Amino acid sequence: MDYAKHYRREQRKKPQCSADGCGARLQSGHSRQGYCRMHEPLLLKEPLRTPEAIGRTLDKFRSQILPARSGLDRLFGCWPWTGRRNKASPGFDGELRPGYGLISIGNNDWLAHRFSYGNFVGGHRSGLTLDHVCRSSLCVRPDHLMPMTQRRNSELEHRRAADDTEAVLVDLSKIPHMHPRVTLWAMLNGLPIGRAEPGGEPFAYGLDGQPVSNHPGPNAFPSVGDLFPSRP
Ligand SMILES: [Zn+2]
Ligand SMILES: [Zn+2]
Repeated sequence: MDYAKHYRREQRKKPQCSADGCGARLQSGHSRQGYCRMHEPLLLKEPLRTPEAIGRTLDKFRSQILPARSGLDRLFGCWPWTGRRNKASPGFDGELRPGYGLISIGNNDWLAHRFSYGNFVGGHRSGLTLDHVCRSSLCVRPDHLMPMTQRRNSELEHRRAADDTEAVLVDLSKIPHMHPRVTLWAMLNGLPIGRAEPGGEPFAYGLDGQPVSNHPGPNAFPSVGDLFPSRP
């Protein structure tokens, strides 16, 4: 049996990404409602069509974040989600994870951190998982998230068993800055925007040793370019 041929045939049966000119085959778990990970922010285009809808959605997003007054979340500048969550699940170490935040946009539930990344940063290469570099699974701060392979993510979780605050700060400092307009929005909304001092090697672990390139995704993200709609 020709496995390569078989594989290609199986791939062809999979649906393709609906974004113009993409054509990526959709894998379950690596895609969302007809879009690959790179293009899934396009799903926000319709529900965030008007300045009013963008304003309402950002207000809703903001209202469910409660910055910490002490502890590591404060030190790292996390945006801890206090709203609805999905079910807790056992993590790699057998400990129960508290689950991830959920936010409904239009008729869809989004993982709150995935909405944040898609809306404020953009899409990322398919086959990667969004890692919480700050190690707080309820954090929804866009520059605390980094796309990486599942394998790399597990390796890091292993290493992270020891609570190494210094290592987290160094890792956080390597993530590209938020878009200036996102920073301004966050500042005006009382969210932490501070960053660890830059240091250490460039952030390379996200993509299995390849240097990280930010994938800006489609230019059509509704909110980054339109964070301050003129409200009536
Ligand atoms: Zn696509
Ligand atoms: Zn965080």
